[in-house]
Parts: sequence; C-alpha cells; structure tokens
Amino acid sequence: MDLLDTLTAKGLRGEIPTREEALAVLATTDDELLDVVAAAGKVRRRWFGRRVKLNYLVNLKSGLCPEDCSYCSQRLGSKAEILKYTWLKPDQAADAARAGVAGGAKRVCLVASGRGPTDRDIDRVTDTMAAIKEADPEVEICVCLGLLSDNQAERLKAAGADAYNHNLNTSEGTYGDIATTHTYADRVDTVQKAHGAGLSACSGLIAGMGESDEDLVDVVFALRELGSDSVPVNFLIPFEGTPLAKEWNLTPQRCLRILAMVRFVNPDTEVRIAGGREVHLRSMQPLGLHIANSIFLGDYLTSEGQAGQADLDMIKDAGFEVEGAGEATLPRHRADIAEAAQAGGSCGTAASACGSGGGCGPCGGHAHAAPEGTTSESPASEDSDGDELRSDLVKVRRRGAGTELAPNA
Ligand code: SF4
Repeated sequence: MDLLDTLTAKGLRGEIPTREEALAVLATTDDELLDVVAAAGKVRRRWFGRRVKLNYLVNLKSGLCPEDCSYCSQRLGSKAEILKYTWLKPDQAADAARAGVAGGAKRVCLVASGRGPTDRDIDRVTDTMAAIKEADPEVEICVCLGLLSDNQAERLKAAGADAYNHNLNTSEGTYGDIATTHTYADRVDTVQKAHGAGLSACSGLIAGMGESDEDLVDVVFALRELGSDSVPVNFLIPFEGTPLAKEWNLTPQRCLRILAMVRFVNPDTEVRIAGGREVHLRSMQPLGLHIANSIFLGDYLTSEGQAGQADLDMIKDAGFEVEGAGEATLPRHRADIAEAAQAGGSCGTAASACGSGGGCGPCGGHAHAAPEGTTSESPASEDSDGDELRSDLVKVRRRGAGTELAPNA
C-alpha cells in the first residue's frame, strides 16, 4: 500500500500516521499534489463532512507589546505601521463581534496583545463576554490573552468563555530562535492551565519562519499530544518592520502539503487555515478547504483579509457549506474525549486523543494575514540579496475594531 493509501486508511479510522509518514507528506512533489489533497480530503469529509466553521477575530488591544516574538507586528520594537490602541470597551467589542456573527461566524475570538492578562484585564474580558452573549447567547467565545496566571483560566471559564487560544507556533527545539522573552514551556503551561480549567484548547502553529520539515512535524505531533481541540495553521506574513520581513519561504503548494500533514496527524480535530491564507494560498485557497474544516472570516488582527463576502462565495463555489450555530464541530467521539479531559484535567497520548493542554503563547499578533493580490500601499521590491519583499501582498488593517470604519465580515 502506498503512502497516501496508508494515510487515508488510518485517517478514516481516526488513527494518526507515524512521524516518518508525516515527513513523507511534506516531501511529496508537485506532480503528486492533487493526490495528496484528495487523500486528505477523504479524511476531512469522513469526520467533518463539507462543513466549514467560520471564526471571527476581534483585536481588543493592538500593538505596544513588551514581548519579542519575531513574527509579530505588535512586538517590542516593531516598526510595522499597524493600528495601536488599548482595550476596547465592552460595547465596542460587542459591536465588532456582532458583525462577525451576522456574517456567519460561529465563534468569536477575543485577542489582546501582551505577555499576559492582569486580574483587571480578566474583569474587562468578563464584561466584554457578557455584552457579546447578551446579544447572542449561542456564540462560542475563544479568548487569547497570553500567558495565564493561576486561577485566571477558571475565572474565564466561569465568565462564559468556551475556549482559550495559545499557539505553540514552532517546535520546542527552535522556539528560542523566534522569541526570547518567554519559553516554549511557558506556552505549554498556559494551554494546560486553560484545558485544566475546562476550556477547550485552541493551539496551533506558524509555518514559513525558516523552520525545517522536522520542526513542523515536531510541533504538529506536540499539539496532538497536548490534546488541542482546534489547530490553527498560520502561514507567516512577513510584516515590514519585523525581524522576519524577508522570510517569504512559502508557495501555495507547500502550504497545501503542510495543511495535509496537519490533517493526517489530526484526522478528527478541527484544522483551521489561519493567518496568511490569502497571502500564501492565493488562488489555491479553495483547495485548502478540501483539507481544513475551519477558517477566519474577514480581517485578521493587524492585517486585512479578503472581503467577508468573498470568503462566503469561495465556500459556496467550492461546494462546501458554512457550519451552523446548532451543528457540532467535532465528531461525537472526539467531543466526548475533549469534554472528559476538560472535566478531569488528565492527559493521555496522541493515539488516545488526550486531554490536557494545547497551547498558544502570549498571543495577539500571529494571526496576520493579508488580501490576495495587489492591494497594498507599496509594490513588490527586492532586498539587497535579491529576495523579493512581497509587501504588495500585505495590507495593514485600517477598519473594524479600533477604528471608525465598519468591520469586514
Ligand atoms: S505574539 Fe502576542 S506576545 Fe508575542 S509579540 Fe505578538 S502580541 Fe506580543
């Protein structure tokens, strides 16, 4: 049986591949690409049908972060000309959230830059969640505030949060190359705190930062081991004014292979195409829907995505449907495991789809994306080494939360 037959058979049974098989997916050729997408698509449809879950980002506090995550436009010392503002008021955040829900989003993701929340910040987010749930009690709320201290996850859970996002981002072995103000272990600890408090763990990665195939496989298996219920796959947007501005390492084909590998390792887990979808997949975005079962609607934290209506049109044109508020995202057996883990706070193994941890980090800036094509203020240029600086693909967010302009949803 060849590689793809093996991976498909395993995925249909909810089993994960070996590390060697995952690496082999990343090593497939462009001639094999459609076969890889088709195999991952069978696994996706087995567990998620043709549903696409829409998530909507609300950046509660933008920029001015003391952390040094090198991929982030909100980092310490960032020269990126992003929106900078402090905490939105609850009604302002609720207005933005309402736009996303009206556009079809099932989950609202409340994100704030910074190392981690103070107890006063938890109060602010509590008030914001109340305002959102008052308008729409059914909406799922995921919170992303960075590193959590003791009891903060419990307070968020009690206040109505459904999930907590904290991405591992890259492998443990290379984590120190992308940030020095906190550690990989800090990130794991926060996801474990969130999961232990009964919050669903949302934790993913960023591809395109110069990592090896082994690093990608390491972080994806680590996420599986931690029991992340949803895995956002970000493709680095090399923001001008950040240390990774020249890291344009991805092609649409590479992105599809990465998504397929993530799907095979997480056959029955939500896989979300996150920041960088428009920038790196470009006209190949619909193929990504055959692998992932979740995307962000509209704009990202500090950059603009394609129009929300274009997201909806793409889903429909590709033969998929937006997942409704009353539909379960995870398959029943996987949801049972997640709920049991959240109730018991215990962790298992990858094969048993364990239950503790997931993990993102001091979050708030990694989900940068940009629109397809040439919508920026500055055209593509070349750096002194001849590498293209595709600034034409990145458009800084100038609408929605923190502005007077309507959100894109
Ligand atoms: S990812 Fe989060 S913690 Fe890191 S620099 Fe950006 S906003 Fe700060």
